[in-house]
Amino acid sequence: MRQLPRSVKDLRPSGTLHVPFRGAELLERPLLNKDTGFDDGERDVFGLRGLLPPRTSFIEEQVSLELEHIRRKSDDLERYIGLAALQDRNETLFYRVIVENLEEFMPIVYTPTVGRACQSFSHIMRRPRGLWITPADIDRIPEMLRNARTDSTGASSAADDVRLIVATDNERILGLGDQGAGGMGIPVGKLSLYTAGAGIYPAHTLPVSLDVGTDNGALLADPFYIGYRQPRLRGPDYDDFIEAFVSAIMDVCPRAVLQWEDFKQHNAIRILDRYRHRLTSFNDDIQGTGAVVLAGILAAVRAVGRPLADQRFVFLGAGAAGTGIARTVRAAMSAQGADAATIRRAIVTADTKGLVFGTRDELDDDKREFALGQAELAHFGLGGLTPSDRLTLEGVVAAVKPTIMIGTSGVSGAFTEKAIREMAAHVDRPVIFPLSNPTAKTEAIPADIMAWTDGRAIVATGSPFEPVVIDGKRHVIGQANNVFIFPGMGLGAIVAEAREITDEMFLLAAETLASMVSQERLAEGALYPAVSELREVSRQIAAKVVCQSRDCGVGRLYRDEEVFDAVDSAIWFPAYLPYSPSL
Ligand code: NAD
Repeated sequence: MRQLPRSVKDLRPSGTLHVPFRGAELLERPLLNKDTGFDDGERDVFGLRGLLPPRTSFIEEQVSLELEHIRRKSDDLERYIGLAALQDRNETLFYRVIVENLEEFMPIVYTPTVGRACQSFSHIMRRPRGLWITPADIDRIPEMLRNARTDSTGASSAADDVRLIVATDNERILGLGDQGAGGMGIPVGKLSLYTAGAGIYPAHTLPVSLDVGTDNGALLADPFYIGYRQPRLRGPDYDDFIEAFVSAIMDVCPRAVLQWEDFKQHNAIRILDRYRHRLTSFNDDIQGTGAVVLAGILAAVRAVGRPLADQRFVFLGAGAAGTGIARTVRAAMSAQGADAATIRRAIVTADTKGLVFGTRDELDDDKREFALGQAELAHFGLGGLTPSDRLTLEGVVAAVKPTIMIGTSGVSGAFTEKAIREMAAHVDRPVIFPLSNPTAKTEAIPADIMAWTDGRAIVATGSPFEPVVIDGKRHVIGQANNVFIFPGMGLGAIVAEAREITDEMFLLAAETLASMVSQERLAEGALYPAVSELREVSRQIAAKVVCQSRDCGVGRLYRDEEVFDAVDSAIWFPAYLPYSPSL
């Protein structure tokens, strides 16, 4: 067994921190600032006398005051702005507020409120975070990565510190489309969740906007737009730009795990497939979504009492998320012993043009993977379809009689009453996941689904919804939030120093998550653990990822009994450490 290098052991600071800054400069470092939390001794040693009011506060008191400020605001976007200001001022306090109130603030720092923030980013941004790269920078990306501010405890640069990067090209921000430079809100928010949900120390993270221009006319017309004011780069130039970015990461931040975020369908799938074996990377929209939805499916199958291999799926929306979920379901069915023909029949997809089948005209290459062949069409009594035929969702449901229906179309109302009633006519407990975000884009609202199915449906959504009460019974609506997967995946990959993130890791993550839903929650219809359990979920997933990395030869050789120690020693809890001056 190799000795653990300091790099892994030191992923979170502990003990006394040696700090090289003094006075106002120290107060201006968000990761080091304690505001009124500096004690008397520190005020003397670090030249803070007179720069702070006399009273020293405990972090618990500071949290109470921050909660007072944030809760007083009447609008969620204002709360987002308030929290961002806190993050810019005192990052330890920001994370303490979030970690202790995850359920309340996750919808603010991430979906749905972050979507509004992205839409108005040019107008609400105060202090820029992360790295902004445009096509004009193609020859200087390594230099820019070295410039990146990580605000760590010493003078070290991003090159030494960065272990986790979230990068977006801003083209498919949540369900809101092209948000240009405003998409930066997503990597920033996602990395906050990595820290809140898995304890990854903020100095090891780097949000990146690959600002390749925008085709959003409203942004281009906005005189205050902060981004690269050009039409979106496409074709070989786009590919060259991504290639330059990947090469720079491998060169400057060789130990970083990269998460691709909110790329549009075609680029998302292509880029993932092109780089996943070259760079430790994954796409959360595809793989994280696949795993979190599979976890919900596994929990639903437990509640319904029929195995995965007996289920029939209809996917509405065959984009990045739909494809990722379908791939994960296919892998899970195969792992449970289902044969290829059964799996091909069990997964049916539909897009804007209705049922996806192999002979259909206007069929994108990305969608061929799950297009029905003649044998499957005949099995469903659809052998007579001609290339120009368009079968609507209602028609698909009537023919396929799905037991599980997944919506990733980004279209509100796409699960029509007729389609849901048709589905419920054939199954006792229809499992229905309208996953599109933000809330306004959900395919059907849970209360309607419950009403149309007489309370028989098991529902999980992409955005948070209140429980639904029907005939006096309370149904909790599980949120298929990727946050249950990606923080643990990132933490595990970092601790394992994995060279690759494999599909098996996502399957294991899904199984781990599904196994953590208590019987009590399952009885109420909740398919996921409570968000307040997120840190423990991430810890368990990370441990599984570390073991799997070792077992499949892509990560460090930890002994079983070392795994949890290694994971735990990388989890940061936001508390003030005592400081002493660096020599
Ligand atoms: P995408 O743009 O890659 O794909 C959208 C797909 O929907 C395309 O295949 C398109 O043809 C299809 N579509 C559009 N209109 C349709 C219609 N009226 N009927 C049927 N299909 C239609 O986007 P994506 O990354 O796949 O994300 C789609 C949605 O899923 C977004 O709203 C996103 O927020 C949501 N999502 C949810 C989760 C989650 O809940 N955990 C995770 C990822 C994505």
